[in-house]
Order: sequence, then structure tokens, then C-alpha cells
Amino acid sequence: MLSTLIIISGILVGTLAAYLFPHIIRKVEEAKLRQDCREQRTLVLTYDDGPGENITPRLLELLDSYQVSATFFLLGMRVQKYPKFVNRLAEAGHELGTHGQSHLNAWKVWPWEALNDIKMGYRTLGDAVSADSPFRPPYGKLVLPTWWALRLRRAPIGWWTVDSGDTNALLPQSDEVVKKVKSAGGGVVLLHDFDRQGNQAAVRADFVLETTAALLEAALVENWKVLPLGRLLR
Ligand SMILES: [Zn+2]
Repeated sequence: MLSTLIIISGILVGTLAAYLFPHIIRKVEEAKLRQDCREQRTLVLTYDDGPGENITPRLLELLDSYQVSATFFLLGMRVQKYPKFVNRLAEAGHELGTHGQSHLNAWKVWPWEALNDIKMGYRTLGDAVSADSPFRPPYGKLVLPTWWALRLRRAPIGWWTVDSGDTNALLPQSDEVVKKVKSAGGGVVLLHDFDRQGNQAAVRADFVLETTAALLEAALVENWKVLPLGRLLR
């Protein structure tokens, strides 16, 4: 009876740790990121889930007009659909990271599925990334095995400090995002460059571009550096 109880509590504690431990690490690393952005007066623009055939070229043009580099966490399955953007992004001087192959939530699938998806995401990008290029977990979710696998690769985890809200049901104003970053004295901003479907597609693409432009204007006024994530982490 006692041994059964010990085994059951062991399993419970182990399961809890598998989810809780990476979550605690996330909180610690996010706090450090916020501090680094503030101390180094830095803005990092990050774009997930792309590339998108319509939005990515518009974004490239905008970033080029400000002569800044951003970080793109590319999704393997979209890279397979629009492979030409990988070289275009790299040639424009942007940092490439991976966001996995098919956007799996590591808390909702088996660990081996999440592990395989990370591996596939790096593999799809081929020579455009290295084994230790940054990884951004879909939905910000990791479990102990995925955290450990990234650590073995020495791949930094691409957390963010400000969510632009561009995927929220209710789209915020670009000004609200700028205000949040200003009050934090800089930040790593999460945005998305995949082509949305439906009647909000154009509005959301415009929001991403307008928010990017508004943040870059703020960077000029506030004298922030605009760097890809890897440069800030180094
Ligand atoms: Zn995503």
C-alpha cells in the first residue's frame, strides 16, 4: 500500500516538474530579458509563424527603409510552402530562428512528438540555420524533455517581453503597444508575419506593419538600439 502511494506520488511530482520547471525557467529568463532591454536601451522586433507570401515582402521593405535587422522565427511548414523567403530574409541581414515544423503545443502532445517537431523545424531550414540558432516555442510552451533538447543544442530560447496582441480576438491599437514598450524602456516584441485568412486578414496585416513602423519611430525618438535577439543575448 505504502509503496503504491510512493510510486503514485513520484509520478505526480515528476509530471508536475516536467511542466513546472521549464515554466519557472521561462519566468526567470523573461525577467532577465526585460532587464537587458532596459539597461541596453534596446528594441528587438520578432516575427513568428511566417513566412507569408503577402506580408513578409511588405515587412522586408519596411525594415529595410529603417535599415534595421529583426528576428524571424520561421515555421517549417510555411517555409516548405514559400521557400524563397528564407534566402531573402537572410540576405537582408535578418536573424533566422525556428518555431518548429507544425506549431505543436508541447503541453498538449506527447514529449516525443514535440521533440520531433523541433528537430524537423531545424531540418526544414537546412543550412539557413545552425543547430544552435534560437528557437521560439509555439504558445511559449516547453516541457522538460524539449527544454533539455534545446539546452543540448545550446540553442537560446526566444522569449519575448511584450506581446503586440496581433493574434488577439480584439486587436489593440498600435499606440498601446508602443506605450507598453516605452514604459518598459525597450523590449522584445512578439509579432506575426503569416498571411491571415478571413475578413480580418488585411486589417491584421496592416496592424503588424503599422505597429512595426510606430515602434521604429519610437526607437528613433527614444534613442533605442534596434537589434536581432541573438545580438541582445550575446
Ligand atoms: Zn507561433
